[in-house]
Amino acid sequence: MIKLKKYLCVLAIALVSVSSGCGSKAESSVVPQTNIHQNTNKTQPQNPTDPNTSGNAVSDEASDRSAQDINHGGRGTKMDIPPDIRQVMAGVSLPEGVVITFEDLSYLIIPHYNFSGTVQNGYMVVNKKLADEVLDIFAELYRLKYPIERMEIIDYYNGSDFESIEANNTSSFNYRVSTANSGKLSAHAYGCAIDINPQINPYVGQDGTGSHQNAKEYWSRNTDLWTSETAKKAFIGENTAIYDVFVNKHGWTWGGSWSSYRDYQHFEKRVY
Ligand SMILES: [Zn+2]
Repeated sequence: MIKLKKYLCVLAIALVSVSSGCGSKAESSVVPQTNIHQNTNKTQPQNPTDPNTSGNAVSDEASDRSAQDINHGGRGTKMDIPPDIRQVMAGVSLPEGVVITFEDLSYLIIPHYNFSGTVQNGYMVVNKKLADEVLDIFAELYRLKYPIERMEIIDYYNGSDFESIEANNTSSFNYRVSTANSGKLSAHAYGCAIDINPQINPYVGQDGTGSHQNAKEYWSRNTDLWTSETAKKAFIGENTAIYDVFVNKHGWTWGGSWSSYRDYQHFEKRVY
């Protein structure tokens, strides 16, 4: 696939004297996307680490990353934040002059089952101190076949927590204040929190409602009322296997246990 892609790139460059490069939007529009389960009308973010969409000066490097064996027994790969990803993050999820730098963070490629039951790669930025543990956790989720609809860095959602949640995107690092409006930095600002399938596992206030209308069905945590079998598998609660992995095996805190409001998507481990 990669070889064919590169061949097509060479062919395209030979035929057209335009330096837009491979993986332009026009080209990627005719190549099937990795994420096939779109639930919003917004344009699917283009991840430069995806060989279908990579298309800049470092596209070969990005393609090589993405071409790595996505299995490893279900365990992903960690690396320093690659140059092309730094470009994407700078001024979006990571503003200039804040307490966190690229050197504090790791970029993870994480194989997981999607909502169609097939394996795909996800991409996540986390605190470097947690990188190995996060890979261990997601390797366990892989073995459990816990479904994750999509996993892309929040920069492809304009750094917007709201947009990412609206697309049911699983993500971690984002330099922002807490959702609880305390004015304090969120654990996400340090890459020490992960939101998982946030549409299915919403943030619910004391009045029992959330702010995403497409998550309305999931404000109730009684899965007997839910219609989607996949959503039921993605449910996070105290008696689920994913809770057991994060909380009991790895000592993370779950936002669904909080008393003033419930953040069912949220696991965190503050190592800063
Ligand atoms: Zn969170």
